[in-house]
Amino acid sequence: MKSLQTIADMRTASRAARREGKRLGFVPTMGALHEGHLSLVRAARAQCDVVAVSIFVNPLQFGPQEDLAKYPRPFERDSELLKKEGVDFLFAPAPEEMYPGGAVTYVTVESLSDKLCGRSRPGHFRGVTTVVAKLFHIVEPDSAFFGQKDAAQAAIIRRMVRDLNMPVEIAVRPIVREPDGLAMSSRNAYLKPDERKSALILHRALTEVKNQFDQGQRRGAALIESGKQVLAQEPAVRLDYLEIVDPDTLDPTEVITRPALVAVAGFAGTTRLIDNTLL
Ligand code: AMP
Repeated sequence: MKSLQTIADMRTASRAARREGKRLGFVPTMGALHEGHLSLVRAARAQCDVVAVSIFVNPLQFGPQEDLAKYPRPFERDSELLKKEGVDFLFAPAPEEMYPGGAVTYVTVESLSDKLCGRSRPGHFRGVTTVVAKLFHIVEPDSAFFGQKDAAQAAIIRRMVRDLNMPVEIAVRPIVREPDGLAMSSRNAYLKPDERKSALILHRALTEVKNQFDQGQRRGAALIESGKQVLAQEPAVRLDYLEIVDPDTLDPTEVITRPALVAVAGFAGTTRLIDNTLL
C-alpha cells in the first residue's frame, strides 16, 4: 500500500493506474475505521482493479460546536487495517493541503442539503459535497463507494454527480451493524456503557416502523408515531428527528406507495447518532 499526503502525488498515482487501463475504485472516509468502512473497501476491491481510500477529517463539515478537535484519529491502526484489505493507495492529506488559505469556493446541492441532518447541522452537507467534489477531482475514480448509513449524504452526492456531470459511478452499500443492531459508527467510541445501551433504541424504533409497515400501515404519520412511541421508552436518548422521506429528494412521504427512507437521529449523552432503514 502506498501512502500519499499530497494532492500532486495522489494524482500521479491514480493517473498512472488509469493509463494502464485499470478501473479505479475510491472510498472516502474520515478514518477511525470499522467494519462499515471495510465493507466499502471490500466492495471496491471486488469491483475494481485498483483501490484508493482517503482518510481526511474534513473541518468544513463540522459546526463550531461539534467534535472536530476530539474526532478519533487512530492513523497507524487504520493504515494497518487498509493494508490487510489489499488497498493500493491511502490518501491522507493535512487540512492545509486540502484548504490552503481556507475555503471560499463551495459545492452546494441546494434544498436537499437543508433536510434531515442538514436542518440540525447547518453547513454540514455543503462541507461534505465540497470535499467530495475536491476528492473526486484529485483521485479521478471510476467508481466511488458510500454507506447507506449516511443515507441523506448518499442522496446528496448522487444528485451532485448527476447535476455536475461528474464522470464517476456512485455505489451505495448496506449498513453494517453490531451484533445487537447498533449501526457501526466511529462516534460509537464516545459512548459510555449506559449510553451505548440506550442508543439501541434508535434501531428498535426503526424496526418497529418496519414491522408496522410490513403489517400493512402505509400512512407516514402513523408509522412515525409508532417509532416515536418506542423512542419515548428511552428518555436518555434525545430525539433530533424521525422522518419518512423519499430516498432521492428527501421530501416527506405522506402515504407510502414507493420505496421510502425512514431516518432517525438522536443524542445519547452528547453523542449524536444516526440510523435508517428502507421501506
Ligand atoms: P465516515 O468516516 O463516517 O465519513 O464514513 C465514511 C463512509 O463509510 C461513508 O460513506 C459512510 O456512509 C460509510 N459508513 C459509515 N458507517 C457505516 C456503516 N455502519 N455501514 C456501512 N457504511 C458505513
